Amino acid sequence: MPTKKQASVLLIYTGGTIGMMQDARSGELKPFDFNTLKNQIPELAKFDIELSSIAFEQPIDSSNMQPKVWSQIATIIETHYHKHDGFVVLHGSDTMSYTASALSFMLENLAKPVVLTGSQLPIGMIRTDGKENLITAIEIAGTLKKGKPIVAEVCIYFEYKLYRGNRTFKYNSAHFDAFKSPNYPALAEAGVDIQYNFTYLLKPSSKRLKVHTVLNDNIAVLRLFPGLNEATVNAVLNTPQVRAVIIETFGAGNATTEVWFLNQLRQAIKRGVVLLNVTQCLEGSVIQGMYETSTALKKMGVISAKDMTFESAVTKLMFLLGQNQTPANIKKNLEKNLRGEMSVLPHDL
Ligand code: ASP
Repeated sequence: MPTKKQASVLLIYTGGTIGMMQDARSGELKPFDFNTLKNQIPELAKFDIELSSIAFEQPIDSSNMQPKVWSQIATIIETHYHKHDGFVVLHGSDTMSYTASALSFMLENLAKPVVLTGSQLPIGMIRTDGKENLITAIEIAGTLKKGKPIVAEVCIYFEYKLYRGNRTFKYNSAHFDAFKSPNYPALAEAGVDIQYNFTYLLKPSSKRLKVHTVLNDNIAVLRLFPGLNEATVNAVLNTPQVRAVIIETFGAGNATTEVWFLNQLRQAIKRGVVLLNVTQCLEGSVIQGMYETSTALKKMGVISAKDMTFESAVTKLMFLLGQNQTPANIKKNLEKNLRGEMSVLPHDL
């Protein structure tokens, strides 16, 4: 009888609370090295999964995350892609949704799982959530069905739930259950068994993995609020080098209809700046034209981010701008669902 193939998982340690320790003098949480982390989890040695690891020499608090580090992580995955069945990225929870979203765009034609996880309490603490998160993330990354991985996308595993990474945001800094994915169901839930929601998983690509490491950070954000003044809008839209501005709007993508405001947006579009409408609501979608307060935006060419998260909108723009595409192509791709980051709703058809 042929023996079952043992899955192989690569663990990439970038930092985060999971691997932090309290500084004896200041009481601050600071990252420690990966070997200390491994020693804290003797269970790792018991896995029926071949586990390899790569650790950042200088682990970081994820609030220090930068696009160049996303490129580093994507390159590690590319270099080791053929040797492993799955990847687990240990990462701080603060910007984990940004990293997961960025990686989802950077890793085109993925056919293997890339599971990000971390914890709210350091691994050395008795009540840590880090052990369960890490152990189950490795199990998910190393689960094969007929020799093939079940999951073929960039995900976040946290507190018993597996989510599509580019649908998540961190919503709670105090609870173990730190992430939400309001516009897309969980991909799996871990209880006694790991129950996969097969209908919601992306299909593995049969094409060769293509890794995009060039990102362009010339973007700005304009968050609307009643009383936002002309000088601020002018400053944001005219930020030197800016190529795209995310406008964080109200409700279903609505904004003030003040003439000065709409004129500023029109002028920005004329200068070739891409304007992307993302709602401040955490659930639901932008529907430009549903209210009078969004009709002018639609007419002048503001692009609807539909139900994309802010994190996805930021990283999708960095990714598309990094490709040196024409504004028309950027617009086309922004409106297109590239990696499961947006829903195709009836009013879009
Ligand atoms: N500040 C930490 C980080 O994001 C928080 C965490 O890991 O949960 O790196």
